[in-house]
Amino acid sequence: MSKHSLAPAVPPGNSVFQHGDCAKDGQCQLNTLFTLAKQSRALGAYKLARHAYDKLRGLQIPARFQKSIELGSLTIRSKPFHDREELVPLCYRCSSNNPLLNNLGNVCVNCRQPFVFSASSYEVLHLVEFYLEEGITDEEAVSLIDLEVPRHKQESKWQETMSDNAQTLRLDETMDCTGSNDPFTAKLSFEQGGSEFVPVVVSRSVLRSMSRRDVLIKRWPPPLKWQYFRSLLPDVSVTMCPSCFQMFHSEDYELLVLQHNCCPYCRRHIDDPSP
Ligand SMILES: [Zn+2]
Ligand SMILES: [Zn+2]
Repeated sequence: MSKHSLAPAVPPGNSVFQHGDCAKDGQCQLNTLFTLAKQSRALGAYKLARHAYDKLRGLQIPARFQKSIELGSLTIRSKPFHDREELVPLCYRCSSNNPLLNNLGNVCVNCRQPFVFSASSYEVLHLVEFYLEEGITDEEAVSLIDLEVPRHKQESKWQETMSDNAQTLRLDETMDCTGSNDPFTAKLSFEQGGSEFVPVVVSRSVLRSMSRRDVLIKRWPPPLKWQYFRSLLPDVSVTMCPSCFQMFHSEDYELLVLQHNCCPYCRRHIDDPSP
């Protein structure tokens, strides 16, 4: 097995620790930490590997592991102090990098926004869940989102000029359509240092400014509430299974559906007409 195929084996948060029954707690802890140390080191998550080796040194180690753990905790010191950046979960609300071992669980350590994971790769998806202001029904919210806002065309940002001996393509900075004038982005701000999670609550005017393409809605049957997610990277597409409402990077989802003819999570057959 190549090292790269192990990538999803180190999910962020604490979920990796949910083992089955172990004969002894100590043995279980040792096995978990030992595996975590080895895998995170192999993947380049050196900070996490250091942490695991430090914890291991506080445990009683059976003789057969002794040499390997001693060698590991010695040689890890020759590695960088940080984890490889691609492995570190990024919060799309506040743009902070999160530690691989997160005491708070699957939420951002900075703004406490819960992460939304892909159900196939377990990568953090570029989505932020938001809530409707008091008094807005789901039907109204959907109709407001569906009102397509006139977006500035991408092409119009580039001004092409032709002269006798030169062809110039100029980027017009004043026509920024994705930047600071998005009312939703303004809603993402939060109070620094607060220990409470402050959800993103949107008003009618913010809903009106959203494009249908950037919003995913989990339409749960009553009495459950619908859940709304806004994509923060409109160019990277996310697919939601219409049956289990799990979300995936569209590329992953399409490949898996082609391979198995069903949703990779709930196994709903692609030809099944029911939702
Ligand atoms: Zn955050
Ligand atoms: Zn599904």
